[in-house]
Amino acid sequence: MTQTITVIPGDGIGPEVTDATLQVLGAAGADLEYDMQLAGLIALQELRNPLPQATLDSAERNRVLLKGPLTTPSGSGFRSINVELRKSFDLYANVRPVRTIVPGGRYDDIDLVLIRENTEGLYVGVEHYIGMHGDPRAAAESVMIITRFGAERIARYAFEYARKHGRKKVTLAHKANILKYTQGLILDVAQEVAKDYPDIEYEDRIIDATAMLLVLDPYRFDVLVMENMFGDILSDLMAGLVGGLGFAPAGNIGPDAAMFEAVHGSAPDIAGKGIANPTGLLLSACLMLDHLGQGETAGRIRDALDSIVRGGIARTVDMGGEASTKDFAAALVNALE
Ligand code: NAD
Repeated sequence: MTQTITVIPGDGIGPEVTDATLQVLGAAGADLEYDMQLAGLIALQELRNPLPQATLDSAERNRVLLKGPLTTPSGSGFRSINVELRKSFDLYANVRPVRTIVPGGRYDDIDLVLIRENTEGLYVGVEHYIGMHGDPRAAAESVMIITRFGAERIARYAFEYARKHGRKKVTLAHKANILKYTQGLILDVAQEVAKDYPDIEYEDRIIDATAMLLVLDPYRFDVLVMENMFGDILSDLMAGLVGGLGFAPAGNIGPDAAMFEAVHGSAPDIAGKGIANPTGLLLSACLMLDHLGQGETAGRIRDALDSIVRGGIARTVDMGGEASTKDFAAALVNALE
């Protein structure tokens, strides 16, 4: 049965990379129908609400979303709609694979997966100013919340993912040496969960050393799991290992809903120039097809992507080429038809 999904093109380069992605999905014969919805800055401008009820209703109905990046104002302004959507649908596991596509970079054959906890940590949004001596913003406080429930389900997700995908090792990255309670709880729980998976190697490492080792010797890792903000930072680092943010996809998975989006943001510096690399969103759409049982179609898209990029048929500017977003999508469509 054809699956209807909610599509949110998003802000900045979002509409450009979404157009390209939908064209490629069409050429690959993906069995999908699209329920197009607004969110973010565009929704704020047009409907005076960055997360309109119609968008939430559509997501509620379809339970599967493909989403372009949404701008979040820094400091003041509305809270992140991305975080809001992840929380609303309890999308607790953020799965971020990175794989070398363009050869000749710093490393070849990178194939790693980061699993980021998506609903807890500092992202719970419990923060406030503390006024002192007439200064209403003399201090600020953010609370990191980790629950045993949240720590256990993300650790278990990482091991189950490793088992299902034939991966050998899970590394927990943490900061339990300093944050003895919050990070200490994650560490204790992960060590317990690891005992249920004797077939998967387990190790834990301190987050800062993990960052260094990822740059020096990424091949020693396989699946990495960590709390929310550490995962946010390290997944951008890992995108850097394979050529940058343009290549990094993500799936936000919950018990009964899933949202697929690129790791990158709305890239205001290149928005409207027609040069954005659509690979991050396209590979996110491939994760979505895998999730929907259309893995064969996803495989053909990944093969087409590899062949046009490796063969030098089309490369966007961030890959060292000259193809526009439209040219790149056209080359992919051509390879698939
Ligand atoms: P960004 O990811 O938008 O851009 C960082 C750099 O990477 C920029 O130089 C940009 O040009 C480049 N880049 C990003 N995507 C690219 C692509 N597809 N092709 C080529 N180059 C690409 O990060 P930022 O500038 O820090 O954030 C901009 C906005 O996006 C912020 O409002 C932020 O909150 C938001 N954001 C949203 C999401 C999301 O929707 N999930 C994720 C991250 C950031």
